[in-house]
Amino acid sequence: MYEEILRGIWRIQVPLPRSPLKVLNSYLIKGDSRHLLVDTGFNRPECREALEQALQELAVDRSKTDFFITHLHSDHSGLAGAFKTDTTKVFCSRADGQIMRVGNTRAYWEELAARYISYGLRSTIDDAIRHHPGFRFHESEVVDYHYVEEGELFAIGDYQLRCVLTPGHTPGHMCLYEAEKGILLAGDHILGDITPVISPDIVNEDPLSLYLQSLDKVDRLNLRTVLVAHRKMLEDPHQRIAELKAHHARRLDEAYRIVTQAPQDAYEIASQMTWDIRARDWENFPAAQKWFATGEAFAHLQHLRQLGKVERRLENGIYRFYVV
Ligand SMILES: [Zn+2]
Ligand SMILES: [Zn+2]
Repeated sequence: MYEEILRGIWRIQVPLPRSPLKVLNSYLIKGDSRHLLVDTGFNRPECREALEQALQELAVDRSKTDFFITHLHSDHSGLAGAFKTDTTKVFCSRADGQIMRVGNTRAYWEELAARYISYGLRSTIDDAIRHHPGFRFHESEVVDYHYVEEGELFAIGDYQLRCVLTPGHTPGHMCLYEAEKGILLAGDHILGDITPVISPDIVNEDPLSLYLQSLDKVDRLNLRTVLVAHRKMLEDPHQRIAELKAHHARRLDEAYRIVTQAPQDAYEIASQMTWDIRARDWENFPAAQKWFATGEAFAHLQHLRQLGKVERRLENGIYRFYVV
């Protein structure tokens, strides 16, 4: 399914089977000589077929279509390797590109899973990896990424798109911004009816601090149209940014309140937080959702630590949080 949402910019809806995100919005910007495709979908047949069909119907010459990957998550980066040709490039930030380069090795996932187990995740390394969509649907091959820096320009058709680094959701999340027309291709930095996951990675244990700074950075831009990567479009981007900040302030309060009841690890704290997930209770959360929830709780706890409100102690290999 696709539609021209702005002149020369097409939204291609790539289905994400079994993901609560449902669909990835891939954006095709058609130029005179070259085109740019922003984000791709998972490396799985349903995504590949949908993208292939849309590009074919839109009569896009794939040998002239470069890729811009907003961030390393496999629902955005998964098909870049499969769709790239000898005459096209895949652009992304250095920080995320460096992680993607090792992201399809088992060693990377073992390191990440071991971290989450130190956050309290009740799982073995093997089981944790097996259930994680990032491991299951990652890139088919190591792609020769072209790193782009803050402020770098893509001039395509009527659009002058500049790279804006927005770390937080991932260490090197990057948006594209058309200043004159007030257009932001936002990736997962800002979403409409869901809140982007903020969870620690192998580079940074306090991603929430970065994320809040990135929200402020984007809030200073002239935003008329924000093209999000999932689900509903934004009606009022600045109001949405305020809502996202308020959401994290509430989450910080919630996590703090739980720690005041008893010292606990992030997994235990996550089990008592409120989640917008279709599962009866914590025990019925799918394994991958428990991983994400634990990471999200840990990110908020790390931010509370940064604020001097809680401290953590490593006990039997697991971090427990205490009120200061
Ligand atoms: Zn993402
Ligand atoms: Zn996403």
